[in-house]
Amino acid sequence: MSAVAVVGAGPVGLTAALAAHSLGLDPVLLEAQPRTAVRPGSRAIFVHRATLDHLDRLSPGLRDSVCARGLVWRTKRTLWAGRQVHVRSYPASAAVPFTSLPQTVVEDLLRRACDAAGIRSVWGDPVRDVRSTPDGVALRTERGATHEVGHVVAADGARSGLRAQAGIALEGTTSTTEFVVVDVAADIRPDHAERVFHYRHPGVGGRNVLLVPFRGGWRVDVQCRPGDDGGRLVAQAPQWLPRVLPQVPGPRITWSSVYRFQQRLASRFTDGHRRILLAGEAAHLLPPFGARGMNSGISDAVAAARAVRAGSVERYARERRAAAEANVRAAGAALDHLLAARPGQRCLQWAAATAAPLWPRAGHWLDAAPYGPRIRAVSY
Ligand SMILES: Cc1cc2nc3c(=O)[nH]c(=O)nc-3n(C[C@H](O)[C@H](O)[C@H](O)COP(=O)(O)OP(=O)(O)OC[C@H]3O[C@@H](n4cnc5c(N)ncnc54)[C@H](O)[C@@H]3O)c2cc1C
Repeated sequence: MSAVAVVGAGPVGLTAALAAHSLGLDPVLLEAQPRTAVRPGSRAIFVHRATLDHLDRLSPGLRDSVCARGLVWRTKRTLWAGRQVHVRSYPASAAVPFTSLPQTVVEDLLRRACDAAGIRSVWGDPVRDVRSTPDGVALRTERGATHEVGHVVAADGARSGLRAQAGIALEGTTSTTEFVVVDVAADIRPDHAERVFHYRHPGVGGRNVLLVPFRGGWRVDVQCRPGDDGGRLVAQAPQWLPRVLPQVPGPRITWSSVYRFQQRLASRFTDGHRRILLAGEAAHLLPPFGARGMNSGISDAVAAARAVRAGSVERYARERRAAAEANVRAAGAALDHLLAARPGQRCLQWAAATAAPLWPRAGHWLDAAPYGPRIRAVSY
């Protein structure tokens, strides 16, 4: 009997398998999709330094491999109706605080690290049935394979079947406001890479727009206005993109999506027998602003493996749920700022934009608030 099975080979499951292996737990990794399946879009492009540190501890050299394929932007800029209200640049000599690259590239590197470690994995065979008892967990897959294990790390994503079978509810809210995300192919020179937030971009009818560079392209996030149809805004992207990214001639869209801010948490991060540990999006759904989803999921994965090893599942469930609650609160503050639904908020933002040229703190606040309050990186 394996000590632990990890269900789901997204970034969180792959990390959990690596972490379990590093602790001598002989994990088996079970994934529904075939290994060759192509996952679309850039998705989680921001890899935080704490995440890079985790990965490097699990597989020495992985931090350098990820960083070599990523892009570091050293300038943050914020504009209000086309007028700059804040800019901050970090010297090239400063330590790399993060890197920016498509999630698929990180997953590919994690898969290679799992292979190099000799971790057993089964692809293209979804887990369909999970039975937890005080002594362990029995898993049954679609093709009829069975696995009897001591613990399961459920990293099977937002629609987690394991969470549902364990009878654990997903609680929280989804914003009514839609956001549109468009990836645009571009070969961005590091010295041209800037994260830019536009309040009331004049080129997209006064909507808020976030531009984030990553290796291979730009991520363009547009906040819909009440009554907007996100799908329609995506369809109109060829018209407004040249005004948003004038530096990219003939912008080529590689992926687009419409999403809403999710702030959802599993009611418990383990089952009644403390044999199933929820991790990543199986446990919490967070919006992309603030880059909390994948980064906090990777922290879950590392903590889950340690908890299985140490027999401290209850503590895992308590501590990682507390971290997720903090992330949900931060996401809520970010959404509140972005929506600025109350007249007082809109006045305050307008006053800050007016004061920013003379009072840099006002510009700094406008720059930072769309991502919510900072959380200590280790708590992600
Ligand atoms: C449009 C978009 C933009 C995003 N932007 C960001 C961002 O900027 N920053 C950020 O941090 N995050 C972002 N995210 C979120 C990020 O992609 C997720 O946090 C991350 O993928 C979660 O990883 P995970 O491993 O928990 O789940 P997933 O990546 O969903 O992986 C779950 C895996 O489980 C497998 N699986 C499911 N059911 C079973 C089963 N029954 N048996 C076996 N395997 C199963 C699935 O096939 C999948 O491979 C974004 C997501 C989207 C959709």
